[in-house]
Amino acid sequence: MTEFSLWRDSKLEQALIRKHALARATDYDTEALTENGYFVYHLDQLAQHLAMLQQQNTIKLWYAVKANPLSRIIQTLDQQQFNFDVASYGELEQVLKQGIDAKRILNTGPAKSKRQLKAFLQQGVNTFVIESLNQLTWLNEAASELQCKPTVLLRVQLQWQNDEKNPLGGNTVTPFGLSTSLWEGIQLSDYSALDICGLHIFQWGNMLCHKKMYSLWSTMIEPLLTLAEKLAMPLKILDLGGGLGLDYDAQQNALNWSQVVADLADIKQQAKVDELWLELGRYAVGQCGYYVTEVIDRKTNYQQEQLVLAGGINHLLRPAITGQAFPVALLNTQLSDNESCNFHLHGPLCTSLDKLGCLTLPANTKVGDKLIFGFCGAYGFTESMPFFLCHQLAAEYVFQNNQLTQVRQSQPASSYLR
Ligand SMILES: *Cc1c(COP(=O)(O)O)cnc(C)c1O
Repeated sequence: MTEFSLWRDSKLEQALIRKHALARATDYDTEALTENGYFVYHLDQLAQHLAMLQQQNTIKLWYAVKANPLSRIIQTLDQQQFNFDVASYGELEQVLKQGIDAKRILNTGPAKSKRQLKAFLQQGVNTFVIESLNQLTWLNEAASELQCKPTVLLRVQLQWQNDEKNPLGGNTVTPFGLSTSLWEGIQLSDYSALDICGLHIFQWGNMLCHKKMYSLWSTMIEPLLTLAEKLAMPLKILDLGGGLGLDYDAQQNALNWSQVVADLADIKQQAKVDELWLELGRYAVGQCGYYVTEVIDRKTNYQQEQLVLAGGINHLLRPAITGQAFPVALLNTQLSDNESCNFHLHGPLCTSLDKLGCLTLPANTKVGDKLIFGFCGAYGFTESMPFFLCHQLAAEYVFQNNQLTQVRQSQPASSYLR
């Protein structure tokens, strides 16, 4: 037997095999009808990964809750001393519900009304990434009304002539932050209820190349320092957002965290800031999650080997948005045990969008087999489109101390249809 792919975990897969064997033994006919796809998060693996990320004192780490807001995931991040970046009132409530102090919460996002800003202040949130002139005015008003003085980072959106430096369409104008020329127009003294002492910039996702990231970060320093100088602003904090990538295609391109830390230590020094922040989503939790679903049908169509799965983009939308597949395997098998074959993997929705990729699986993969997808811990359950065609919602499990626990039951369409 050869080793499992890097993203797989044999203990977890054995536990899943046992779960399916039990379900088959007790209720074979209804198994697939009551659960047609589920996520499982390996919490021990997550804790270990997060502890590794914290082995440094260069970067203050926040967790971008949108990547995965499950309570048990948030609790694991809390235990590893992460702080929390929330972008909606729902995310705020979910983090507070886990007993986390509001002082460890940061609010980002382009859609902050005055009402929302005030509500966040009332809940005790004291750190804001501000993305527009209106947000700045509203937060200042709300803070004076409530007699508090929140810490504020201004979110900057840069553009360069050189497209090479903008892998995620950096020259596409987005609603995230403002140009330096707009920020230059403000007077800090007009916002006396705010402690404006940092800048935030984040325009690139799923980066996998150290050299490119370093070059992007270094290119930002000059315009950011110039802005701070023009505003006569003490630049204490620089927040570089998220964007650290995962090697979804398993091209041996995984980032090396020590290299990231070394590069950022250099950036921190060049920017002369006291604190360098990152809010990690994908890189924090992506690897700890898996998605499992069943093969419903197999056919050969115009020379294509097709597998139709019980769950698709109704549970896992990302491949349809990015065109990038999650890695897949037949549950608890070694690919090298068998002859392999490229399969087109389709979900159950009646739209050609519902495709999870074209991926290699054992050639003898058959109806009833379970497939496990890796790197599904981020941008999975809550990013999907679960209501289309009235399928069941995915279930969610956690795996901790070799034990599988269901934290969300699969819900039938009747639970949400009106
Ligand atoms: C989504 C988001 C992140 C996390 O991004 P990843 O690429 O998943 O690390 C960080 N900061 C902000 C403001 C975000 O919107």
